[in-house]
Amino acid sequence: MTLALTGHAVASGIAIGQTHLAERNELEIEEYRIEREDVKKEITRYHQAVDAARNQLDELAQRISRNVGIPAGEIIQIHVLMLGDDSIREATENQIRSELCNAEWALQSQLELILCQFRIMDDPYIRSRGEDITQVVRLVQSKLNEKGAGKPLENIPDRLAETMVIATELTPDELAILHERGVAGIVTEHGGPHSHTAILASSLGIPAVFGVRLAQSLLKEGETLVLDGDLGVVYADPDVAILDHYHQVQRDTVRFRKSLEKVRKLPCRSIDGESISLQANGERPEELLQAIDLGVTGIGLYRTEFLHHRGMASDEETQLGEYLAAIETLKGLPLTIRTLDLGADKPTDSADYDQPSRSANPALGLRAVRLCLRDTDQFKMQLRAILRASAAGPVSCLIPMLTSAPEVVMVRTLLDEAREELDESGLAYDPNLPLGGMIEVPAAALSIEEFSQNLDFISVGTNDLLQFMLAADRADEEVAHLYDLQHPGMVRLLRHIFRTAEASRIPVSLCGEVAGDRRYTRLLLALGLREFSMHPSRLLEVKQVITETHIPRATAALTQWLNNTGNQRDISLLQLLDQSQQTLLGQ
Ligand code: PEP
Ligand code: MG
Repeated sequence: MTLALTGHAVASGIAIGQTHLAERNELEIEEYRIEREDVKKEITRYHQAVDAARNQLDELAQRISRNVGIPAGEIIQIHVLMLGDDSIREATENQIRSELCNAEWALQSQLELILCQFRIMDDPYIRSRGEDITQVVRLVQSKLNEKGAGKPLENIPDRLAETMVIATELTPDELAILHERGVAGIVTEHGGPHSHTAILASSLGIPAVFGVRLAQSLLKEGETLVLDGDLGVVYADPDVAILDHYHQVQRDTVRFRKSLEKVRKLPCRSIDGESISLQANGERPEELLQAIDLGVTGIGLYRTEFLHHRGMASDEETQLGEYLAAIETLKGLPLTIRTLDLGADKPTDSADYDQPSRSANPALGLRAVRLCLRDTDQFKMQLRAILRASAAGPVSCLIPMLTSAPEVVMVRTLLDEAREELDESGLAYDPNLPLGGMIEVPAAALSIEEFSQNLDFISVGTNDLLQFMLAADRADEEVAHLYDLQHPGMVRLLRHIFRTAEASRIPVSLCGEVAGDRRYTRLLLALGLREFSMHPSRLLEVKQVITETHIPRATAALTQWLNNTGNQRDISLLQLLDQSQQTLLGQ
């Protein structure tokens, strides 16, 4: 009988094969005392274990970069960087010295302290960094353990074709080894969708479902398993109907992926010859690398809320360090840094900004640039850091949630003050740093002419614009059916934005989620969008639709749809747009 289990859909794709239950030799951390005269020896033993772990990861990262691609190797390199973290090293050494305990135990105590701090983080991505630190610490502990306990995957066969590995959890390096052995899919009991193992599974194209509770107890060795990495479901001992369905999905997916690979090398141009610019949204190193690999023209949205959530926003040098690292990774590609967008769906809970007063409607309250313009010292510090970064590479500054043109004037005044302060300190910056504004508030969308007086570019944030335009909370499942880009009012508003931007000669891009949703690509082209910014994982899919779109035909179909004001439209806008291309695409 079929058994269906659910978990987190962490890496898309369908895998069908036989299960293999990976045994993990549980690592027991013993505590024992050492003599005072042995402290130095213990610290050396600890350093040797860190070096051994680093060598293992370095060697693996190089091999993976060579065989699979630079971004995959970089994910393992992130663990190498964590190994070099001075604060963990110093705290562990201090504990060995002061408590005369063994290195494994000192490391374990430090891990527990760090995990307590991570557990209270709101941002799920940052919270899941705790998983990475645990994995790195475990690796060092396994090197300290002479019996070699904790080494997983010892009994895993060398060839894993058509094999699905079921594990309690996996580290990125273990996953990379499974990939080298040809694993078909991965199921784990623990591990979140934001872990680096999850990111690596996705970038290696291994379908994976994580967080399947009791997977190791409920699944049997060698039984047939269907894994749906898009829905986050696994079916053990599937019946014929399920198997037939998924074999068909697998064939379709293979065809689709092949067609995407062809698109990678093509210029990003529509059938009628319009060049379209594709930029990426991202701030994590692996996202930036993935974006470069896919040939983006720049980073259109670099969100900076992570600085706040990691407690780094109140230090100019730390902020600058993050921006410089991104600039270095991008090697000359433009970087659009968005100033802090806190409040509502991005809570402010650290000391950097005072908690705004409770509002009955936080999405309409003191948030984003409104909060920045209240706490101008903090804001100016970020502007200074962005200005200083602009001396090192092509950087633009983007302001979120603008409502009225005077806000831009206030931002400009603060930018001028920041420049004067840098001049006084003799610090370099780009005097022509472009200043952009996000169009996320309907009233701002209807005031592009006013905004264009003081802005160098605009970026449409449809995630927020849709929620305000349709009065439907972007995070509320109950009203998700209303949150629809095809609403005639929303379509008209977007058309107005692109037309007015063109008439006002202000460059415009769009960085909301719909930019990376291939279902809407034709609609956005028909509306006049020529610069998209999206998560890198969506780039090829969107590029494929662009290369298969004749924009004038799509525009004509859109006009026809907008003119058909009758209550009954017998065909949806997206269907009409697809139909408008059919004769061209030979369908
Ligand atoms: C948006 O609102 O469309 C946007 C890109 O910003 P965020 O999702 O960060 O609010
Ligand atoms: Mg927004």
